[in-house]
Amino acid sequence: MSREESHAIVLGASMGGLLAARVLSDHFDRVTIVERDALPLDASPTDAVHRKGVPQGRHAHGILASGRLTLEEMFPGLSATLRAAGAQEADLTGTRWILGGHRQRLDDLGFPGLCCTRPTLEAAVRARVLALPGVSARTEHDVLGLVHRRGRVEGVRVLGRRDGSAEETLAGDLVVDATGRGSKLPQWLEAMGYSPPAEERVRVKISYTTALFRRERRHVDGGIVLVVGAAPPNPRAGVALAVGPDTWIVTLIGYLGDRAEPSHEGCLAFSRTLPAPDLHELLADSEPVSEFSTSTFSHSQRRRYDALDEHPEGLIAFGDAMCSFNPIFGQGMTVAAHEARALGACLAGGETAGLWRRFYKSSRAIIDIPWSIAVGNDLRYPDVEGARPALGGLLDRYLDRVLAVGASDARVGTAFLRVTNLLDPPQALMRPTTLARVLLGTPARSTLASPAEGDAALATRG
Ligand SMILES: Cc1cc2nc3c(=O)[nH]c(=O)nc-3n(C[C@H](O)[C@H](O)[C@H](O)COP(=O)(O)OP(=O)(O)OC[C@H]3O[C@@H](n4cnc5c(N)ncnc54)[C@H](O)[C@@H]3O)c2cc1C
Repeated sequence: MSREESHAIVLGASMGGLLAARVLSDHFDRVTIVERDALPLDASPTDAVHRKGVPQGRHAHGILASGRLTLEEMFPGLSATLRAAGAQEADLTGTRWILGGHRQRLDDLGFPGLCCTRPTLEAAVRARVLALPGVSARTEHDVLGLVHRRGRVEGVRVLGRRDGSAEETLAGDLVVDATGRGSKLPQWLEAMGYSPPAEERVRVKISYTTALFRRERRHVDGGIVLVVGAAPPNPRAGVALAVGPDTWIVTLIGYLGDRAEPSHEGCLAFSRTLPAPDLHELLADSEPVSEFSTSTFSHSQRRRYDALDEHPEGLIAFGDAMCSFNPIFGQGMTVAAHEARALGACLAGGETAGLWRRFYKSSRAIIDIPWSIAVGNDLRYPDVEGARPALGGLLDRYLDRVLAVGASDARVGTAFLRVTNLLDPPQALMRPTTLARVLLGTPARSTLASPAEGDAALATRG
């Protein structure tokens, strides 16, 4: 390879790696994505398949409104490709959100949300990225470590997974670690003589149980999203997304070891004790059309690369490798899209020296809000360990009131959804007009199951 040619290497070809590669292709002559899985490189989004490196792909994956907008900006026409592959589209009024036990009244956002399976989305994005000039993928290759000299990462060591493969070194000007929450970068940094990042963890022990179900037009009044959000102390939540004209993906979620048994009966029993009956009614009126999948997610983790004083040049951590959120708020792909945009801005001046510092500073601002939304909700469960903010109780009561008023006031319900979709910052809920509506509005009566009813439901807690 000519070292005159600039070369970026991206580790991991999941959503984080693909979005980073998309942006890097604007700034480097070549971009090589290294991925341990075999990827169906020529598959269309319609026949996208699950793969081992992204086990979460079997579960409902929502893309938040701001992520949807960012993806369309990065890949014009992506929504049309996804629609052609069966994705379903509707504005907020074609969705049903039951939050804090209250069905929210909603206004249109002015652009539609889109539902599809995670493999469909990833396959569509992958096809677009690999079609970019200079971008290629090394699949079925494990990244073993980094090549480091005099304060700079100069490449990566990789090993093919096929029998007889020998270790190789790929030289590059920039290495982007997008290998997910299991990233070995902290250990690699230590081995190179740097301090690893401090790590914040919030243990939530969440379980996901998922299957595809037959979709009828009568379900959810023809809508494409049904969310029954977690309403602490009830440890249960559920979501149904229309991922095709006749198909729901339904995921039931339990906090702190609670879980739905992976069967239709198990899901019916679990959904009966959600904070609202809507998902139970859907499941009682449908049949599974796939196997059931389960996963557990032990803790959210945020690696504070942004707080490091020393770090090699030519290297950044990206996506879940930097921060892996409690997935219940569906933030990971949207945050990766925002990070990709920030990476593009950091490279815009053509300067790669000090990139790590600029990029980590931008990503801190991107991660802070979704992290505080997810952790703030987690800490409402008494058994989740962590320091409670001084005014946390007051804030929780205000948010409860937002959701109770949002049941009848679409301006309030929509304001809340705009925050959780990362379109507006949480402070938007304190703007004078919203504050007045929340404080003077009429809150709906709580319909939440009592803790006793909840306890009876927790027979499957493991
Ligand atoms: C249960 C669950 C549900 C979720 N639901 C949502 C949701 O609804 N909405 C949302 O936006 N996000 C959701 N997420 C998060 C989302 O999946 C991630 O944020 C997103 O995939 C971006 O992650 P990533 O690409 O950084 O890492 P990952 O998706 O973890 O991908 C890492 C990639 O690196 C590869 N890799 C790892 N190690 C190596 C190695 N040594 N060599 C070569 N390749 C390697 C893996 O094979 C994989 O392809 C969910 C996560 C979980 C766990």
